[in-house]
Amino acid sequence: MAEAQQENLIGLTLAEMGDRLAALGQPAYRARQLCAWIYPRGETRWEAMTDLPAQLRELLAASFRLSWPETRRTLVSDDGTVKYLLGLDDGDTVEAVRLLYRYGPAFCLSTQVGCGMGCVFCASGAGGLARNLTAGEILGQAQRLRADLGMTTGAAGAGGRGGATGPAGAVGPSFHVVLMGSGEPLANFDATLRFIEILHAPWGLAQSHRHVTLSTCGLVPQIRRLATLGLPVNLSISLHAPNDRLRPSLMPGVASFPVRDVVAAADDYAKATGRRVTYEYSLFKGVNDSVALARELGRLLSGRLAHVNLIPGNPVPGTGLAGSSGETIRGFAVVLHETGVPVTVRRELGSDINAACGQLRGKARAGEKQ
Ligand code: SF4
Repeated sequence: MAEAQQENLIGLTLAEMGDRLAALGQPAYRARQLCAWIYPRGETRWEAMTDLPAQLRELLAASFRLSWPETRRTLVSDDGTVKYLLGLDDGDTVEAVRLLYRYGPAFCLSTQVGCGMGCVFCASGAGGLARNLTAGEILGQAQRLRADLGMTTGAAGAGGRGGATGPAGAVGPSFHVVLMGSGEPLANFDATLRFIEILHAPWGLAQSHRHVTLSTCGLVPQIRRLATLGLPVNLSISLHAPNDRLRPSLMPGVASFPVRDVVAAADDYAKATGRRVTYEYSLFKGVNDSVALARELGRLLSGRLAHVNLIPGNPVPGTGLAGSSGETIRGFAVVLHETGVPVTVRRELGSDINAACGQLRGKARAGEKQ
């Protein structure tokens, strides 16, 4: 079978792996062995899976493929942030970002190619939605970034395909995932949930749900659906405006969801999971950074299990939006703090490499060199 037509095993659950192996006449325990190679070890070479019989490895190689996104380009920041442009099997590209914090690495991953939400400040939304990513393609981004940090033992982890940008063997097994790259994760609900399942499962990457942050622009029905699952993943709401006069002009894709409904759904999520909800608020000069709006945001969120993360707005070419000054951001934070709402100002990592989502892919599509 031609390789492109073969099913990619990356992205299958343990049970599905068992089904595929059963169809080849294999016992159920082989599925755990296969998962151990594919997920924590990040192995993509059949011949390296030495506890599987040689005949089975040949059969697997003839029937399936193991494919991660390929690194097309990396930009490395002075602060250690690495921004990746990753190529998918169909030739399109997505971005992922590796950030290094005191508590360990965090991987900012994409869930869609492009995005259909059309937020005016976001380069990912500029070209519209191309397609959803599969769970395997979301997970493959994490595997690529893990490999570059020496967190896998497979060929790619040893600096093979895709190129390495990190110190092999220098990092432990734990990492954080932020679903804040291109795309709206809750508009690709099933693949996102499947990705989280594999990320968390003991037969997968065995990461705590608490190490996962899912960022949404506020799709109310999907937030409520997520709440019913009771997974203690961190929910982050991109709010950027405290009222329905301003928000639709910045985020037209969620104009049909009033701010009150978004906050009510987030409250339900906090209640169901016990996790404090983070509200992301990017500040743009003269647009959403006034003292009056800070007070309005405070009235909206005070008394809730909530926290506000203020983000210096990233200028995106062609939008005319400019980020607020540091002084304005600090003043906004003080006003918010006085209303009793916990607030932090996000430290901007990778600002020297254009870390705003979608910009690298946009430039690649336009054929621009940086
Ligand atoms: S900010 Fe997020 S939801 Fe909005 S267009 Fe960009 S990727 Fe999509």
